[in-house]
Amino acid sequence: MPELPEVETIKNDLLPHVVGRSFAEVVVASPEVVKAPSPEEFRRGLRGQRIRGLRRRGKYLIFDLHSGDAFIVHLKMTGALLINFCPDGYRAYFRLDHGTELAFTDRRKLGGLWLVPDAEIIVGKLGPEPLEAGFTVQALADMLGQRSAPIKALLLDQSFLAGLGNMYADEALFAARIHPLTPARDLTRARVDKLYGAIRSVLQAGIRSRGASVDTYRTPDGGQGMAHLAFKVAHMKGKPCPACGTPIERLALRGRGAYFCPKCQPPPAEVTKPQARNPKS
Ligand SMILES: [Zn+2]
Repeated sequence: MPELPEVETIKNDLLPHVVGRSFAEVVVASPEVVKAPSPEEFRRGLRGQRIRGLRRRGKYLIFDLHSGDAFIVHLKMTGALLINFCPDGYRAYFRLDHGTELAFTDRRKLGGLWLVPDAEIIVGKLGPEPLEAGFTVQALADMLGQRSAPIKALLLDQSFLAGLGNMYADEALFAARIHPLTPARDLTRARVDKLYGAIRSVLQAGIRSRGASVDTYRTPDGGQGMAHLAFKVAHMKGKPCPACGTPIERLALRGRGAYFCPKCQPPPAEVTKPQARNPKS
């Protein structure tokens, strides 16, 4: 699934092609791809609108339009926004006034498009951006506070922190030597400091490598990212840990897989001794 580094790469690649341009043609091939307004209102409402800017918020791509409206794209699992290449089975197609074409493809059909009068309607509930200056180690410590949820679950919660997904959360937790099921409130300040640095460094490395193509992620020109080549635990079940050689394990956490090294990321006490837990607590 495209996460912050993948969406940031797509944004950076598209930026010079779209800013200042307007939508000359809008084709909605799969009406269900439009989440709001109706597909017909979307098509009519977007046509003719000029693009003032393009930015990323969390895993959303936001085209800010001169009218004040926002055209928003979420790629979810398999979405891609391709430039000047429109494969069969595309879900939506856009031609800009200077001829550039954008095609939205999405094999798993989970992604969505919105045209809204204010981007905050869609992205207003997202947590802070991990690479922005306002996201400090103290901010992270305050956010974790007394939360009892497993740290991995919090890192995936987009209203807690925007942009991290399964791959980069696993990589950050490995870099900080934290077991994914550790309750957030049990992290020492030293561990939070390490986690903060790890989150930022794995995301920055991911952007430098143009994202990770473990699955279907493609850049707008149809190319692949290279970030997965540097992954240490994500999608590495059974492979030796690069730090200690122990086979990487995978556990299920709220329906998602979490990859970790059982030696470098020792489990918290209540995971190793489940019989000691009070079932009523
Ligand atoms: Zn290890």
